[in-house]
Amino acid sequence: MSDPIPITIVAEYVFCPRSAWLAFLTGAFQANEFTVEGEILHQKVHTSGEESRRGQKRWKGVPLFSQRLGLVGYADVVEDVEGTWSVIEYKRGRVADRLSDKVQLCLQAMCLEEMTARSVPEGCIYYAASRRKVAVPLTPPLRQLARHSVQETRELLALRSPPPGQPGPRCRACARSSACLVEANSRLACFRWEDWWQ
Ligand code: SF4
Repeated sequence: MSDPIPITIVAEYVFCPRSAWLAFLTGAFQANEFTVEGEILHQKVHTSGEESRRGQKRWKGVPLFSQRLGLVGYADVVEDVEGTWSVIEYKRGRVADRLSDKVQLCLQAMCLEEMTARSVPEGCIYYAASRRKVAVPLTPPLRQLARHSVQETRELLALRSPPPGQPGPRCRACARSSACLVEANSRLACFRWEDWWQ
């Protein structure tokens, strides 16, 4: 098996391939209001431990691993409600239909299935600003897309320079924007990432 890659990098690839490359290979990260809010939310949720109520069990900050997919990561919460297992991912912000969030959740569930040999048919994303939990059915097409995304992320991480970025609204919240310089790309055409490795 090749070295495992983080589930979050695969989700980042779905969000923006350039951002995933910069994050994994250069460690580029610049905190902003969105990342700080997300970090605080996850710290609250990840206070590790197990909760048990009538017919329901919850584990927080659960480490995940998949040998088959070559992945490592965390689930914010794993829930067992009367024998039906699910994963819950916490997101800052309002309810949004983001493919990267669904792929992240799906990969967490697929890791959990491999680790426990139990089926995880559905996950949930909790949007903190809306205080709403949205169910995400883990359908065969979503699973297929998630597997492809892992493969494509591996291919991306083998590149010696990042793919071009596409400026857009997502750049506003991006923690890689200072390293990306997407707006300045044409003016920095003489910069070669290949030289950066030497
Ligand atoms: S600033 Fe925009 S194009 Fe650049 S890495 Fe971030 S999301 Fe991608």
